[in-house]
Amino acid sequence: MRIAVLSDIHANLPALESVRADFGTVDQVWVLGDIVGYGPQPNEVIAELQAMGARSVLGNHDGAAIATVDPAYFNPDARAAIEWTAGTLDENARSYLATLPEVRRDGELTAVHGSPRDPIWEYITSPGIAAANFEHFETRLCLFGHTHLPIAYRLTEDGIEVSPGLPGEAVTIGNARALLNPGSVGQPRDGLPEAAYGMLELDVSVEDATMSFHRVRYDIERTQRLMRDVGLPPRLAERLSYGR
Ligand code: ZN
Repeated sequence: MRIAVLSDIHANLPALESVRADFGTVDQVWVLGDIVGYGPQPNEVIAELQAMGARSVLGNHDGAAIATVDPAYFNPDARAAIEWTAGTLDENARSYLATLPEVRRDGELTAVHGSPRDPIWEYITSPGIAAANFEHFETRLCLFGHTHLPIAYRLTEDGIEVSPGLPGEAVTIGNARALLNPGSVGQPRDGLPEAAYGMLELDVSVEDATMSFHRVRYDIERTQRLMRDVGLPPRLAERLSYGR
């Protein structure tokens, strides 16, 4: 089974379209929240996810855009983008976001935006935080986003094994439990501007299970132009050039 794992799309349709073209035909698409916020095409991105039959969870920006999550912790640029997004969402997009769960579970997979312990807000940024979170989900694997940084944490007999999600690299999961972050489709923050996504291969033999990390070029200037056209904060457009 091939599962495309997407997170933090942030209303960046050119990035999403390039990622979709890159992964091609898959069995499932999972989306780990922050579908909207920052970017210029929230309605179009949601329509695309609906067409893909994506299994999505709610992120902090998604909740803030429909006023079910308090944006108190947002910086001024993020808050300005959320206000613009809230005023731009159409009826379809609003009801899509309103029905998203904070935690999704199916088979071997749990999906959250932040962490299983605190699905909306916690950032898993260290092996220690990852270790504490293994007690908070029951499936073998947990997919998460929120940090915009690709990484895999495997729970082994010797503790937590960390693999940075380097472009083109496949991390063998084997039969271990793991917390997996594919990085961000629409606003990467690891210094690489290319859109990030993960491909999970859960095949016949458990030992062969892998998560591979991918980067895809997309038309960054198109997204930046659209952001300027609708009056989103310039800094949010500029950072896309640097992946920061
Ligand atoms: Zn995000």
